[in-house]
Amino acid sequence: MSKKQLQSIRGMNDLLPAESPLWQFLESKLRTLLASYAYSEVRFPIVESTELFKRSIGEVTDIVEKEMYTFDDRNGDSLTLRPEGTAGCVRLANQHGLVANQAVQRLWYTGPMFRHERPQKGRLRQFHQFGVEAFGMDGPDIDAEQIIMTARLWKQLGVIDDVELQINSIGTAEERATYRDALSSFLQQHIDRLDEDSKRRLTSNPLRILDSKNAETQEILIDAPDLVDYLGEESKGHFNELCKSLESAGVAYTVNSKLVRGLDYYGLTVFEWVTDKLGAQGTVCAGGRYNGLVEQLGGKPTAAVGFAMGIERLTLLLEATGQLPELGGIADIYIISSGERAALEAASLAEAIRESVPSLKVLNHCGGGSFKSQFKKADKSGAATALIIGEDEVNAGLVNIKPLREAGMEQISLPRSEVIDYLSKAR
Ligand code: ATP
Ligand code: MG
Repeated sequence: MSKKQLQSIRGMNDLLPAESPLWQFLESKLRTLLASYAYSEVRFPIVESTELFKRSIGEVTDIVEKEMYTFDDRNGDSLTLRPEGTAGCVRLANQHGLVANQAVQRLWYTGPMFRHERPQKGRLRQFHQFGVEAFGMDGPDIDAEQIIMTARLWKQLGVIDDVELQINSIGTAEERATYRDALSSFLQQHIDRLDEDSKRRLTSNPLRILDSKNAETQEILIDAPDLVDYLGEESKGHFNELCKSLESAGVAYTVNSKLVRGLDYYGLTVFEWVTDKLGAQGTVCAGGRYNGLVEQLGGKPTAAVGFAMGIERLTLLLEATGQLPELGGIADIYIISSGERAALEAASLAEAIRESVPSLKVLNHCGGGSFKSQFKKADKSGAATALIIGEDEVNAGLVNIKPLREAGMEQISLPRSEVIDYLSKAR
């Protein structure tokens, strides 16, 4: 009887051995970068109460309306797989008093997020984000710090010329309310030309119409009132200071007055890094200020700003721009042996190398086979060096060392006691 092979859920990908080095590379780059800005890692659960996301992201948003994985657990409590990290991070900060008494915090997190979207390139149902949140600072200098930090990452990854920074200020809640009215009245005049989604949003969340992908809606919006004209002096001041800081740091930006972001908690600064290399899924990193959220989730009023980037889109961007790093193979050293005594010798040599030089990736061939077939595997492993031990070598206390990658390099033979010294010097 044939048994059907089970498959993963659509839009939820596996990470295979050939792909994980690139992910580890990116993760390690990000960890180092965040440490250099003195940010600390936090980890919070993948599942939270549904209420947390409704109250933070907003009821009338794409995420809460149609993208969340929500279910009742066995107690009948409504739970949700996190669609993003900010809500959980703020919940954590509140719950553990990290932002009490105006304490300053610089935090980051990484992990899987879940949204029930239509899977396509760069858009998954389980995807991975690196997110950064800073609490307790209301000046534009910290907004600038975070944007400059991301610019530094693009430089390190060699993609700074392939991404564009778009920034905007969406003001305070009051300023947005006045603007919302003006925008609604304007759009009412063109209601018959709006698509169904935008018509619905006209009453529920008109600002979201600004980033509609519909061509006709975009055309209508050309003459729409501009948010910037509704900002007060303070909001304008915050934005201008941010622009100045970016200029002084040499970070180029474009002001996009239609950039509003899809989550309700943002106010003042919003920004996105976009690329034209990934088709419709062009946003690789996005964030902004959310001064009201900590209080909205039960904490004391606390200034906050943060961003998140999608790891899958980052890997696609490196691929599309030819910036994939050289990551080497699975092994540095491949140990080949023939015969029972040699196999024991090989295993103990492998351990001795790992003991002395832990950074070397040592692959000891297990399972026997001819020298020829073992050499083939050594070659495939990407190892730079093969160590070869046969009966003769065991008897003589020798190890043969064969460079696999450098043309013209001869095999040499060394006493076993000198092998580790040789390998550490050869690095
Ligand atoms: P989009 O407009 O592409 O739907 P978004 O505004 O919904 O993005 P955010 O909630 O701001 O995205 O998430 C921050 C980042 O996480 C995005 O810029 C993107 O890189 C990544 N991201 C968001 N949704 C997905 C997804 N479904 N699959 C893969 N990456 C995603
Ligand atoms: Mg989205």
